[in-house]
Amino acid sequence: MQASGRVRALPPTVFSEFSALAARVGAVNLGQGFPDFDGPEVVREAAVAALRRGDNQYAHGLGAVPLRQAISEHARRFLDLTVDPDTEVVVTCGATEAIFDAVQGLVDAGDEVVAFQPVYDSYAASVAMAGGVLRPVTLQPPDASHPRWWFDAGELEAAFGSRTRVVLLNTPHNPTGKVFTVAELEQVAACCRGWNAVAVVDEVYGHLVYDGAEHRSLAGLPGMAERTLTVSSGAKTFGLTGWKVGWAMGPRVLRDAVLGAHQYVTFAVPTPLQHAVAAALRLPDTYFAGLQADYARRRGKLLAALNASGLVPWTPEGAYFACVDVGGRGFSDDDAFCRDLTTRVGVAAIPLSAFYVDRSRAPCVARFAFCKSDTTLDEAARRLRAANLGARR
Ligand code: PMP
Ligand code: GLN
Repeated sequence: MQASGRVRALPPTVFSEFSALAARVGAVNLGQGFPDFDGPEVVREAAVAALRRGDNQYAHGLGAVPLRQAISEHARRFLDLTVDPDTEVVVTCGATEAIFDAVQGLVDAGDEVVAFQPVYDSYAASVAMAGGVLRPVTLQPPDASHPRWWFDAGELEAAFGSRTRVVLLNTPHNPTGKVFTVAELEQVAACCRGWNAVAVVDEVYGHLVYDGAEHRSLAGLPGMAERTLTVSSGAKTFGLTGWKVGWAMGPRVLRDAVLGAHQYVTFAVPTPLQHAVAAALRLPDTYFAGLQADYARRRGKLLAALNASGLVPWTPEGAYFACVDVGGRGFSDDDAFCRDLTTRVGVAAIPLSAFYVDRSRAPCVARFAFCKSDTTLDEAARRLRAANLGARR
């Protein structure tokens, strides 16, 4: 008895692996990106109210009507996108399912999918399960002539071709914290238009940008609304990663591609949580501004802790991760460094190499999450400082 070859070919997710290791050795978990504090009480109460009200049967397969309306209003309010809640939205079990469904719905065996690496691990698995071929474009770490993570425009153009069906983009980007600029988005858009490719853009960190960085939706660029699916979820914006309420929005033909898979993957998403996320998306601007300020503060705390320990992080412009070059410290690779840090120092981080399709292009980098309570960040800071990691061997 064994699993299919399709599933056997997939590596175990690095997040489960490092969270289990952290739990086993009692490490402070700055690995897996989930807040260790709760989401807004008003949103949790909205879920309780929905449960008590009896909103407990299957929701509409497209998503509960109030949530689809709230998604449309939120898209207009924050992204300047016009989205018809009746024909252009599908609610999914997290952004993860939206991406899986979009790939299932758009990619035939042998079709190519372009994505920037480091790439969020579920993208590669989704493409592999659809029988597609991932064409990675490598993001390069900041260096003397590039203050931010960057890519070579020629490499992007060379990744596209007549078999390209989809480009999968994530901005703000996990794990690097890169926020794609309008000029960079325009380069991606030009390739999509040139090769008649669909863009699937994962914007789950769209509200988490810092230092004046601006999150822009690819769908808002000229000629892109008709060929873009924008994906998001309530996980990061409301600190409720366990709820798994996400969505994809885009023109009807692309919505239908997602729906074609969704109707048989999960059919519908937990009803009471959909009502609560609808209420969350309608929170006043002060909530979203407060979230940004709160995460900017946590980011400052983690960056200070890493610097004080001798690990020198790049400053992320978005999302909730900070990356550190950990090369030249006597470890064979970033995985060995992260295992040592977790077991010996007692602080878990994620090796960036886990996010590379083409591991030969992976730098030796560790990712630390700052979506953590002050107590957790302070304890991590104490352990890192005590370990005195400054000296490179
Ligand atoms: N996309 C990215 C880039 C992520 O970092 C994550 C992790 N939370 C997800 C998607 C998954 O989102 P969800 O929990 O809504 O499935
Ligand atoms: N997105 C989270 C991260 O990057 C993890 C989500 C998961 O465990 N699948 O850490």
